[in-house]
Amino acid sequence: MTVDHAAEAIRLRVDQPWRERAACQGRGQVMDPPMDQVRAARDLGIEAHLWRDAKEICWTCPVYAECRTWVMGLRGADDLTGVCGGLTEEERRRERRRRGHPRKETS
Ligand code: SF4
Repeated sequence: MTVDHAAEAIRLRVDQPWRERAACQGRGQVMDPPMDQVRAARDLGIEAHLWRDAKEICWTCPVYAECRTWVMGLRGADDLTGVCGGLTEEERRRERRRRGHPRKETS
């Protein structure tokens, strides 16, 4: 399993009943682009453009709220790469710090 597929598997956890309606199904390359692509975009100063495509998928997703709640309470969410719940890794970390629970544990 590649890193992308692992991230996709985490994003679409089988025990999440809403996953079947996720707009990102089959869009792993957009939601979680390969690291060399991220680095190249970062070097060019266009990383935000890379994430915008993924965020646009989230913004039209019928299970956005469920996903956002899930990912913000996910153990190990800081290790989840790519965009999830409409947020990049850094945005999720920032939001978690803002809420005052840097690594909330869930079952
Ligand atoms: S909000 Fe984004 S990451 Fe979450 S299920 Fe929908 S499309 Fe996928």
